[in-house]
Amino acid sequence: MAFSGTLTLTDLNDFITPAQACIKPVEQTKPQTAEKEPGTASTEILIDASGTYYEVSSDLSTSSRALADVPAKKLEQAQISLNDCLACSGCITSAESVLITLQSHTEVFTFLQANGSPSSPDYKIPVISIAPQSLASLAASLSSSSTTSVTPHQVLRRLQVLCKEVLGFEHVFDTTFARHIVLKEHVAEFEERRANDKAGGEADSHLPMLASACPGWICYAEKAHAEMLPFISRTKSPQQVMGTLVKEWMGKKWDKSPNDIYHVSVMPCYDKKLEASRQDFYNDVYSTRDVDCVITTGELELMMREKGRDLSIPIIGELDFDRSTNTFLGLPVLLQHPGTSSGSYLHAIINHIRDTSPTPLILSIKAIRNADYEEYTLTEESDQREPKTIFKGAKCYGFRNLQNIVRKVGRERGLRVGTGAAGKLGARVAGRRLKKTGVEVKKERQYDYVEVMACPGGCVNGGGQLKPVATTTIPKDRDEEGFERNWENTGVVDDTQSGKWGDKEWTKKVEEAYWRDAGPPLYSLPTPPESPPLSPTLDGVSRLPERKTGISMTSADELMFRIFDELSVPGDDDTVKHRAQLFRTQYRAVESEVIGLAVKW
Ligand code: SF4
Repeated sequence: MAFSGTLTLTDLNDFITPAQACIKPVEQTKPQTAEKEPGTASTEILIDASGTYYEVSSDLSTSSRALADVPAKKLEQAQISLNDCLACSGCITSAESVLITLQSHTEVFTFLQANGSPSSPDYKIPVISIAPQSLASLAASLSSSSTTSVTPHQVLRRLQVLCKEVLGFEHVFDTTFARHIVLKEHVAEFEERRANDKAGGEADSHLPMLASACPGWICYAEKAHAEMLPFISRTKSPQQVMGTLVKEWMGKKWDKSPNDIYHVSVMPCYDKKLEASRQDFYNDVYSTRDVDCVITTGELELMMREKGRDLSIPIIGELDFDRSTNTFLGLPVLLQHPGTSSGSYLHAIINHIRDTSPTPLILSIKAIRNADYEEYTLTEESDQREPKTIFKGAKCYGFRNLQNIVRKVGRERGLRVGTGAAGKLGARVAGRRLKKTGVEVKKERQYDYVEVMACPGGCVNGGGQLKPVATTTIPKDRDEEGFERNWENTGVVDDTQSGKWGDKEWTKKVEEAYWRDAGPPLYSLPTPPESPPLSPTLDGVSRLPERKTGISMTSADELMFRIFDELSVPGDDDTVKHRAQLFRTQYRAVESEVIGLAVKW
């Protein structure tokens, strides 16, 4: 199986009860002058009440004396960066590793082979849904070895044919219509949180709302920053909404139960395999998952190669636009949502606020660190020197930036971020600053929304995407996120020069491919205009607009409401609750049993 370098699975122990020593070599910052002679004094490490480490001589029998009474050398704490952690497989649980192994392209082959013919009683309808970032990766790769540029639309048409004829799938979709539903639900949830925030309501539903489509970020929050969980949007990701559409809605159309369908999704990263395996997406009644198996872009390409098929060969009529063959059950194909190639979550909120504002608003964008961390501010159009800010959001990609966001949100909301020394220190430093100056610094406008993604560059740069041909664009002393690294001292192998994950030039090419027009205007489906504004209701909660005759809606919106109606439970008038059951999820903190003293170094 084609795992990325960060997911080399060997000799794992559970994160919950770890027994494996950390593999990070302790860094020797000062050169050793001489070998330790036999018989020289041995030392012990003692920890005082504040958690500081001291080296003392064992000969002074310190056990019976106070630390203050003996000569002791204060020791520096070992530093382990997030990159060190990510380069190690130790924090992946054995349960997770089993799940990832089960979610592989060989599993898909095994299933398809064993599935038999549609007439057999155990036959399951095989369906495959492909993420637009995966199509962009394939398009960029095919374009790089061709004289003409290949579009995601062409790739989808080729895959529609090959996945059916060569692999045996009955239906092939892209996931952009599912994302359309996600964006609408995301906006509805933002409105609910804004109303709750103003009213000082439920503690677990405040602003800033943090995006929820990236399982890399969600896992990190669940394991290391439980204090962030109430801020993370509960709206499901496009992968999981597609799962609901396939297993619930299409299942009903085909007169099949959810367990009579085998649903595979093709995604840009390995983390999506973990997402699909979450207990929340398991249907206990039918003993099935919304997405049965997740494969990466690289695995899909591998499957084609193993079957002797070449995706670079065009199929007849791939540029012909024929709505009847492009759509199934009226599902639109490759809807483009303007904004970012990671899903346009932030832009969906910005567009919604602009469209519903009674006064004209001006959008300003400020780069904070680089293109991966930008602030977006909506202010009222006015002659005032300081116009009123209506909304402040951010786009934040990559773990380094993400850690900054976690600290910033924690600071703004008065939370104790993390349980380590850094959290305590941050709180102490902030307190000292206030005492020293005696004046409270003017409060900065807090974030209302952050589009958080774990990969630098976002989903087009996911770990499961196709790798570029080797280039040497990353400076030798930098890591993939552009931060300085001394590879020799850290003992980490520098693999940034082999055209692997994180190549910025390559990511740019995939990004371009993502937005590439799917041929002449005739061939591409139009981006649907925004739905009518959300209408505030008596209880102060904004809902998706009611479907009324006479309101002009796009075909995508029409279909979305039709699906919602068709999935409604007869007699159940609580549509908000039902919608939440279909399109929302929940998170929980991973309780670690790691005790500092039990960790072996
Ligand atoms: Fe996956 Fe990376 Fe996108 Fe997160 S940002 S969903 S980890 S590809």
